[in-house]
Amino acid sequence: MMAERDPENLDPIYISEQQFNKAVCYISVLKEGLIDFLKKPKRITIVNFPIEMDDGSVQSIQGYRVVHNRVFGPGKGGIRYHPDVTMGEVVALAKLMTWKCALVNIPFGGAKGGVVCNTKERSGAELRRITRRFTAELAENIGPYTDIPAPDLYTNEQTMAWIFDTYDMLHPGSNNRPVVTGKPVELGGSYGRTEATGNGVYHATERFLSRALIAEQQTAAGASVVIQGFGNVGAVAAQAFFRNGAKIIAVSDSTGGILNRNGLDPGELMGFKAGHGTVVGMPDTMTITNEEILELECDILIPAALRNVIHAGNASRIRAKVVVEAANGPTTPRADEILADRGIYLLPDIIVNAGGVTVSYFEWVQNQANQRWDIEEVNERLKKRMYEVMDTTFNRWQGFVVGEEIPSDKETGNKSIGQKPDFRCMALSIAIERVAKATLIRGIWP
Ligand code: NAD
Repeated sequence: MMAERDPENLDPIYISEQQFNKAVCYISVLKEGLIDFLKKPKRITIVNFPIEMDDGSVQSIQGYRVVHNRVFGPGKGGIRYHPDVTMGEVVALAKLMTWKCALVNIPFGGAKGGVVCNTKERSGAELRRITRRFTAELAENIGPYTDIPAPDLYTNEQTMAWIFDTYDMLHPGSNNRPVVTGKPVELGGSYGRTEATGNGVYHATERFLSRALIAEQQTAAGASVVIQGFGNVGAVAAQAFFRNGAKIIAVSDSTGGILNRNGLDPGELMGFKAGHGTVVGMPDTMTITNEEILELECDILIPAALRNVIHAGNASRIRAKVVVEAANGPTTPRADEILADRGIYLLPDIIVNAGGVTVSYFEWVQNQANQRWDIEEVNERLKKRMYEVMDTTFNRWQGFVVGEEIPSDKETGNKSIGQKPDFRCMALSIAIERVAKATLIRGIWP
C-alpha cells in the first residue's frame, strides 16, 4: 500500500517562513542576524476590552495590531473583523504587507490588525462601539506617521470613518485624515480606492501576458477567465477583464459558482447579486461548486476569496494557463511547486493585489496636502505602478531563468533550493533585499 503524503502544514506563519526562506536564497547581502530581524514582528499589541451589546449584556472582545517592520516608514495594513482571527494570521499578513509596500516602492512598513468578532451577528451600533473602543485601546500605537490602518475582510469605509473620528476626538487640533485610508470620499477617501485592487489585478495580468511567455495568449482580450469570489476585488477585476475583451466564463461566491462557456456579463451579475444576495441562480448558467470552479479549463484562473484554496490535493487538477492570486495566500507552498512542475504560471498576491495599498498610499499623500486627485490621475498612476512591479519582477526572474546559476548562498547559510525560481520567490527577494539594504544604510542603532 502506498504511504499517504503528510498533510500540508497550513499554519500561516509556517507558510510565510517557507516563502521567506526560499526567497533569501536569491539575495547575497543578508547576514544571519538580519534575517532573524526581518522574520520577526517589531511589535505586537493585544487588547481586551468589554462592549455593551444592544440587549444590555457585556462581552469581552480581543483585538490585535501587529507592526512587522518600519524601516521604510509607518506601518500600513488593514484591520479584519472575523471570528477566526488569530495572532499568527495577523503576524503573517503584517509581514506580507512589509514586502508588498517595499515591492511597490511606497514609503510604508508592514502592519495588520484583527478583531475577533462575527460582523454578521453584530448590529451597526455594536460594530461602531467595538471599533471606537478598539481604536481608543490602540491609543498611540496608530497614527498618521506611526501606523496607518485600512479596511480588510468584513471592515469597510464606515469602519474607517469611525476609526478616523475616534482618533480625531482624541487628537484635536491636527490634520488627522492620514491616520486611516480607505475612508469614504466625503471624509478624504481617494477616488478609485474601492476599485484599485480589482483594477490592479487586471493591469498586472495584462502586463505579464504582454511578455509573451504564453505564445497563444499575449493579451487578456479573447482569454477565458474564471474567478472564485465575486466580492469587491473579484467583481471589479471581472469588469476590467470584460471591458478589455476577455470572456468571463465562471464566477462564484460563498454560496457556490456559476458557469456559462459563452461568457457572463459582470454588470448583469452584479445586478443579480444585489437582488438575490448571490450569483447562484443567474439565468442561463449552470451551477457548480467552489471546488469545481477552480478545476475548470480556462486561460486565466483568479482566486479572489480565501486562503489555501489551491493546495496539494487539487493543484494537479488545475487546468488554467496562469493562476492570478487576487486573494491573499490562496496557493499553498506545495501547490506552488506542483503548478510550476506542470508549467502553469502563477502571479503571486504580493504583486497582483498590490493595487489596494498603492491607492491607499495615494490617499495618504492627498490627505497630507489637502488635495483631491481626479479619477483619471489615480487610475493612470496605479497602472504605471502595477506595470513597474510586474516588469521588475519579470526581469529578475528572466535573469535567473535564462542566465544565471541557481544560487547556494553561503552568507545566508541557506542551502540551494535546487530549482528554478518562480515569480513569488522573485518578487519576495526584491522586496526583502530592499528592506535589508535600507536597514543597513540607516545604520543599526545605536
Ligand atoms: P469581499 O468580502 O468583498 O469578497 C469576498 C468574496 O469571497 C465574496 O464574494 C464572498 O461571497 C466570497 N467567498 C467567501 N467565502 C467563499 C468561499 N468559501 N468560496 C468562494 N467564495 C467565497 O472581500 P474582498 O475585499 O473582495 O477581498 C477578497 C480577497 O482579496 C481577500 O483575500 C482579501 O484579503 C484580498 N485583498 C483585498 C484587497 C482589497 O482592497 N479589498 C486588497 C488586497 C487583498
